[in-house]
Amino acid sequence: MIRMILLGAPGSGKGTQAQRLKAKYGVPQISSGDLLRDAVARGTELGLQAKVAMNSGQLVSDDIVLGLIRERLSAPDAAKGFVLDGFPRNIDQADALDRMLEGIKQRLDAVVLLDVRPETLMRRLAGRRTCPNCGAVYNVFFSPPTAENRCDRCGHAELIQRPDDQDEVIAKRLEVYQAQTRPLVAHYKKKGLLRIVAGEGPLDEVFARMESAALHTLKSDSAKLAEKIEVKASAGGRRAAKSGTVRATSAAKKKSRRASAAAKKRGMPAKVVKVAKVDRPAKQKPSRAAKKSRSGKTPRLQKKAAKAANSVKKAVTRFATAVRKKFSKATKTKAGKKK
Ligand SMILES: [Zn+2]
Repeated sequence: MIRMILLGAPGSGKGTQAQRLKAKYGVPQISSGDLLRDAVARGTELGLQAKVAMNSGQLVSDDIVLGLIRERLSAPDAAKGFVLDGFPRNIDQADALDRMLEGIKQRLDAVVLLDVRPETLMRRLAGRRTCPNCGAVYNVFFSPPTAENRCDRCGHAELIQRPDDQDEVIAKRLEVYQAQTRPLVAHYKKKGLLRIVAGEGPLDEVFARMESAALHTLKSDSAKLAEKIEVKASAGGRRAAKSGTVRATSAAKKKSRRASAAAKKRGMPAKVVKVAKVDRPAKQKPSRAAKKSRSGKTPRLQKKAAKAANSVKKAVTRFATAVRKKFSKATKTKAGKKK
């Protein structure tokens, strides 16, 4: 049983990670994006309303999204748990979700935020190209096709960029995310459900971090106990190493084995005990400004939020200029070659 929300900006990789959770724990991945696309594809009334907003990078109205989510959470397979991906997006939706879950006698176990730098988000989104013929997906920065703009899989000559992956729309999407989703972080932090996970690096590592963060919240009591035992055991080991006697070392080993066994008994994978502390990215350390404000000079959260919003704005501008330069150059070279 795992009932969690995955939070993260567009391009943070939360969809991919949610699918992995689904595969491992057998709970449905409920994505408001998928629900919307499905409704659009089926041409329902909600779908048609959603289509207009989605194509212009706007958020679809709460009423539409809530209706789709309510329907999905009431399906039988969601009774044993779920991973919400891309929902809620704002405080109103979060409140509505709380009431909805109360109504169907469910509750949230964890809210995991995948933390990714704005520069990385821009590269992941603006670099994405799709083959219109076979659906293969590339990224001009991270996984480009062998021949420029030609599909490796089927040889189709022109890869395309999705309308909502174009610079201006991305900038808009990230701005909207900042403005509407960031307050959720504070909301779930207050509720004691929030876990921040570094969302960059190999997919497997991000998944392991995310999993341990979610399970750590779920089993926080037994996790704390297991951690205590582990710390005790390793302290014993260090003492034994210092004294240098074979007997003491083997006693420490026995102690450590007992700790692992105890952790196992409580249903804690040994991994969770070990990686429980890794789930906070290094850059979450308080900045000098934040430290200063703790002494009572400025409201810390407000300053932090303003800083974050500013850094996104800067990154977006910087990146949009770079991309524009790069692609206008590429187009020119290409046009030149053709002549
Ligand atoms: Zn193709």
